[in-house]
Amino acid sequence: MILVLESKITQNQKGKIKNMLSDEGCITHEITDAGRDIIGIIGKTRKSLDEFKQMDGVADAVPIKTSHKLVSREFKTEDTRVKIGNVVVGEDRVVIVAGPCAVESQTQAMTIAKEVKKYGAVLFRGGAYKPRSSPYSFQGLEEEGLRILADVRDKTGLGVVTEITSVSQADLMMKYIDVVQIGARNMQNFELLKCVGRMGKPVVLKRGLASTIQEWLMSAEYIMAEGNSNIILCERGIRTFEPYTRNTLDLSAIPVLKKLTHLPIMIDPSHATGMREKVSPMARAAVAAGADALMIEVHNNPDQALSDGPQSLYPEQFGQLTRDIYVIAPVVGKQLDFDYLRKSEIINNPKTEDSKTAAFIGEYGAYSHKASLGFFGEEITPVPMKTFKDIFQAVQTGTCQYGIIPLENSLSGSIHENFDLLQEYDLKIIGEITIRIKHALIAHENVSKNEIKKILAPPPAFSQCKNYLDQYPDIELVPVKATSSAVRHIRDSDDKHAAAIGSTMAAKIFNMNIIEKSIEDNPRNYTRFAIIAKEIKGHKKANKTSIIFSTGNKPGALFEVMKVFSEYQINLVKLESRPMLGKPWEYMFYVDIEADIELSEFAPVMEKLQEKSENLRILGRY
Ligand code: PEP
Ligand code: MN
Repeated sequence: MILVLESKITQNQKGKIKNMLSDEGCITHEITDAGRDIIGIIGKTRKSLDEFKQMDGVADAVPIKTSHKLVSREFKTEDTRVKIGNVVVGEDRVVIVAGPCAVESQTQAMTIAKEVKKYGAVLFRGGAYKPRSSPYSFQGLEEEGLRILADVRDKTGLGVVTEITSVSQADLMMKYIDVVQIGARNMQNFELLKCVGRMGKPVVLKRGLASTIQEWLMSAEYIMAEGNSNIILCERGIRTFEPYTRNTLDLSAIPVLKKLTHLPIMIDPSHATGMREKVSPMARAAVAAGADALMIEVHNNPDQALSDGPQSLYPEQFGQLTRDIYVIAPVVGKQLDFDYLRKSEIINNPKTEDSKTAAFIGEYGAYSHKASLGFFGEEITPVPMKTFKDIFQAVQTGTCQYGIIPLENSLSGSIHENFDLLQEYDLKIIGEITIRIKHALIAHENVSKNEIKKILAPPPAFSQCKNYLDQYPDIELVPVKATSSAVRHIRDSDDKHAAAIGSTMAAKIFNMNIIEKSIEDNPRNYTRFAIIAKEIKGHKKANKTSIIFSTGNKPGALFEVMKVFSEYQINLVKLESRPMLGKPWEYMFYVDIEADIELSEFAPVMEKLQEKSENLRILGRY
């Protein structure tokens, strides 16, 4: 059962409730969920629901019907985010864990770690205690393996994950490791589960070879009952009658678990399929199905691997996979961030206290808000602004460290104002993010579609949902400034006949109901945002450079500049012309090129560009 507490409950009242429950032999767990303070009660109490509801300080008492309690969505509606150093599992950024099945040597581990880091992994895996089917197979390097893993972390910055096979290894794990893994064979080793529960470190809990989802959740419950909620559930294939693959990957576990539990979900396609060429297709499918994280076995020399070589990807194959995931993730509202670790380090640097705010346009729940979370994760505090100029101003004056500005939409084109502001302000582009725009029809709880008489949205959202809205010619369309303000307006108005067009995130933030999802006409509706800052911190390899320049007003002036790019085989991915401020009929050009202009091989390009253009400025490399 859960008790929802009144916001004005006193410490005294809360203490009384907890003492009474403890006298009855119940265990209590306190959490804050969706802005509410909750006490979860585990164990049998003689008091009835109504008796609890009558207690001072209690707003509501709700029974949890499932046998898993603390890990259930009924106990906690919000997604759990598991923090591992600067990495968070369970937010918009897909977390990639990669490495060999087993740590074989210092050189092997370090070589693979560097490779997987280069291709986008943010955590490194490797077994030191291997639960092998045969006692004659390689059993792992044991403590030496853990020491190597710790060394890999220190040298690469990748957090390390390894399997614990016995309670007796707990102290060593505490000393060397960031995430402990409970292997499939140990999913129901209850002493081990209690042990990792007490350790408090993040846990990857693999699904047993022949365990049901319910049994798996009960194992997670064991860990959480000890006070450790840092649990990641990992589906790694189950035994079925199909012998072709090593196991059968149960991808349907992802949507099933999303409903049943608040814990994040990882997929391990390597152990699921046992075959190298089947790993990438399953990994791609897992991301499309909503997985929060992937665990992939990668080996630099799989033919010689001491375990699981046939299912290990070559580093380059792993690189191809992460590139595919980079493209797939936004379709389901997620991101693969190749710059994850460097960025998180800057944001979490304790020396830069004011470095945690990002200005965005609109209100909470706006697509810009979602983009800022997708780019920075939850570590940043998004700050709503009324105008684009306010964003530039906030970054220029240092009120906000970062700004997030939409540059173009795949259907409606460029947002010109922001190109003009990039020209006007001396700020840098430090990154970009593309998110999918999926509109939902949002109204109050229990309002059905046929009751709606008017819909609020900004005009671009109306045009993006034209086909859908044309089906309801009698509904009045009321233009407002932004989707997020439309949703807030409906919530504040209490109008049961009004709906808004907005993101599912806005519906969640304003606690409103979604009547229909994905009502936009064209599903290929994406917006690309740039992230602006005063300066670029830390050096990084870049894929793209944004440049602005003007040219003299003479024949062939723009052509001369374009010729430079052509000569050096540099691909242009965007070209935008904007009138120059205060200079009628003169133009500024904005270009994005697919090259890192600071590489020494491009030094002559810069020289030539300077020569052929005027007011050349590099806006950013990212
Ligand atoms: C592993 O991750 O190397 C492993 C042994 O996995 P599982 O427990 O899923 O077999
Ligand atoms: Mn393995």
